[in-house]
Amino acid sequence: MYIPEIETRSLSEIKLFQEKRLKELLPYLEEHSAFYKALFKKNRIDISEINTLEDLTRIPVTTKDDLQSRTDDFLCVDKRKIIDYVTTSGTLGEPVTFAMTNSDLDRLAYNEYISFSCAGVEEEDVFQLMVTMDKRFMAGLAYYLGLRKLGAGIIRVGPGLQELQFESIRRYNPNGLITVPSFIPKLIDYAEQNEIDYKSSSVKKAVCIGEPIRNNDFTLNTLGKKITDKWDIQLYSTYASTEMGTAFTECDAGKGGHHHPEMIIVEFLDENDQPVAEGEPGEVTITTLGVEAMPLLRFKTGDICYHHTEPCSCGRNTIRLGPVIGRKQQMLKFKGTTLFPPAIYDVLNEIECIENYIIEVSTNDLGTDEILIKAGCGQKKPVSEKTIKDHFRAKLRVAPEIVFYDKKEILKLQFPNNNRKPVTFIDNR
Ligand SMILES: [Zn+2]
Repeated sequence: MYIPEIETRSLSEIKLFQEKRLKELLPYLEEHSAFYKALFKKNRIDISEINTLEDLTRIPVTTKDDLQSRTDDFLCVDKRKIIDYVTTSGTLGEPVTFAMTNSDLDRLAYNEYISFSCAGVEEEDVFQLMVTMDKRFMAGLAYYLGLRKLGAGIIRVGPGLQELQFESIRRYNPNGLITVPSFIPKLIDYAEQNEIDYKSSSVKKAVCIGEPIRNNDFTLNTLGKKITDKWDIQLYSTYASTEMGTAFTECDAGKGGHHHPEMIIVEFLDENDQPVAEGEPGEVTITTLGVEAMPLLRFKTGDICYHHTEPCSCGRNTIRLGPVIGRKQQMLKFKGTTLFPPAIYDVLNEIECIENYIIEVSTNDLGTDEILIKAGCGQKKPVSEKTIKDHFRAKLRVAPEIVFYDKKEILKLQFPNNNRKPVTFIDNR
């Protein structure tokens, strides 16, 4: 298993290493990025005075709106150097283009190489890739490049297509899956309906992307348990985004995604852009290292996480990120309680008769948040509204309104205008 040497050093040595890399990044931005050049000038920032990670707080944060409204100003290279065009969803609906050079693709490969190594992946492993490689997504490409660099086997099946997934498992005997975790219960359902002995298949682990599988104390959440109760495979959570071009992936200990100091500087900020202490939730704010085309400085991701600094049993001393507890813009103030949609998803996932759902949020006459859950029910035995509300009160202390629909109607609502991902949260505030 490959561990970059820096990850085994002390946190203070890691900090010094990152500060050295920061000193390389700042002049690059000042010279090549129209956005950051203007930002430094406007705020009278002399980059030679930014020497430590603490000094970073003197530089204003970069927001998703900045990236959306001034995308071209972030580009640091001539357009001829761009190899790959990726898009990510912007705040205003229009996708934001993320350009990558040859060197950025190499960096992406290295990132997933060390990230998969963290999850114990070795050359002899074979992974079935159940996420898309095209549609301008970065993730599938990144996993492919990383596994290739590791020398592992890759079966590119893509998302959905349960029959092809099992045919591939039977034919090529992969020992790992890369998938959104909510797809695994669908695979299990398919296997059970078609009498496929998935439990004795070659699959032993899954790298889970895009959705949390753990609670804040690292025990498996409802989705994580739903998978492992039926199928005894090891789950590894990985957290990444296009803007970061970097992954935080769990090791065997399953105690949060490891930070890779060569790739990224990470801060956890409160509502006033000040660092939070360990044990407090903070917005993940990142500074990319080694990115050529579109490097970012203090970019606020909108994701809220806890972070952990104690050394890990795997030998890495790098900090670890807990599961994303929610998106900052989606924070709800409901009957005096602060909530994030994933906590609501977690309760809904526990209720067997609810097969799909949409959460709609609006502002009521009192100016506070109102939550309406539209739940799709299938054939499984229905549960009363009261039982569901009791579940909510037990887990979250409050119970939102719930209305039942046919699951097909919910499915239609979840995929308007050919969306790539299902819509589960509609914000009418
Ligand atoms: Zn570890």
